[in-house]
Amino acid sequence: MASVLYIVVPCYNEEEMLPITAQALLKKLDSLIEQGRISRDSRIMFVDDGSKDKTWEMIEKLGNAAPAFVGIKLSRNRGHQNALLAGLMTAKDRCDITISMDADLQDDVDAVDKFLDEYEKGAQIVYGVRSSREKDTAFKRNTARMYYRTLEHLGVEITYDHADYRLMSRDALEGLSQFGEVNLFLRGLVPMVGYKTATVKYVRNEREKGESKYPLKKMISFAIEGITSLSVKPIRFITFLGIFVFLVSIILLIRFFVIWCMGKAVAGWSTIVISIWAIGGLQLLAIGIIGEYIGKIYLETKQRPRYIIEKDLEK
Ligand code: UDP
Ligand code: MG
Repeated sequence: MASVLYIVVPCYNEEEMLPITAQALLKKLDSLIEQGRISRDSRIMFVDDGSKDKTWEMIEKLGNAAPAFVGIKLSRNRGHQNALLAGLMTAKDRCDITISMDADLQDDVDAVDKFLDEYEKGAQIVYGVRSSREKDTAFKRNTARMYYRTLEHLGVEITYDHADYRLMSRDALEGLSQFGEVNLFLRGLVPMVGYKTATVKYVRNEREKGESKYPLKKMISFAIEGITSLSVKPIRFITFLGIFVFLVSIILLIRFFVIWCMGKAVAGWSTIVISIWAIGGLQLLAIGIIGEYIGKIYLETKQRPRYIIEKDLEK
C-alpha cells in the first residue's frame, strides 16, 4: 500500500501566490500518484493563519474544485510556527507522511521526490537544506550565518540552513505532539524528537508574488525566541559575567587601598563615571535576559492553546 502524503502549507495573506502554488503542488501530487509513489488519498492542506485578504475563500474554492485540496482555518493570526503546527497536528491522524512547505514556492517543489527517496530508505524526518544563499542579500546571509553559529555555541542542535521545509512521518509527528510548549521554534524542537533523519539539498528561490511576512522586526523576535526557547546558557553566561565583574572590583579596591596607604590623591573622576555606566549597563542587560526567561515561564504556565481551528474542510 502506497503511503498517504499530506503537504502542509501555512498561508497568511497569500491571495497573490495561492493560485500559482496550488497548481504547482497539484501537478506534483498528481505525478507522484501516477508513479504509484503515494496513495490516491494524498492531499494538499492549506492552513489559513487568520488572513485578512481572500485567502480562506480561495482555499474553500480550491477544495470544492478538486478533492486533493483540503484546508483548515485558524480563528485568528497566530504566526507561521503555530499555523504550521496546527496543520501538522491535524494532518497527523489522516496520513502516513507530511511535508511542510511555505506558500510562496521559494522551496523547490521537485525536492519532494528526494524527500520520499529518503523516507523509503527509512528516514522518519527529512530536512530540506538550502544548497546556497546566493539569492539572499549580504545582510541576511551574514546574520543568518552568525545566528546559526551562536545557536551551535549555546548547545542547540539545529540543522544548518534548514527552514521549515521538511518531511515528517506519522511516528515523528506523534513524538512532536508530546512537546507541549507554547513558545514554538519548530526547527529546534524537531531534532529533539529523535528517529532516523536525513537531509536533502535544494535551491531556494526568490518569492514570486506578494511580500515577505517576516519583516526584520519579526525576524529578530523569532531569533530571540529560538535562543531562549532552546538554551539557558545566556543566564549562565550572566552569572559568570557577574563573578568576573565582582573580581575586577575587588582587584580595583585593593589597588585603591594601596594607593591610599601610600598617601597619593586619586584623581579618577572618569574611571568612576565609566564604571558606573558599565556596571549599570551590564545590570540592565542581565535583568533583561532574565526577564526574557521569566516572561517565557509566565506564558508556559498559562498553558493557553497554541491555535484554535475555526473551520476544517474535511469535517
Ligand atoms: N505565514 C503564516 N503566518 C504568519 C506569517 C507567515 O502562516 O503570521 C506563512 C506565509 O504565508 C508563508 C510562510 O509562513 O507561507 C513563510 O512566510 P514568508 O514567505 O513571508 O517568510 P520568508 O520566506 O520571507 O522568511
Ligand atoms: Mg518566503
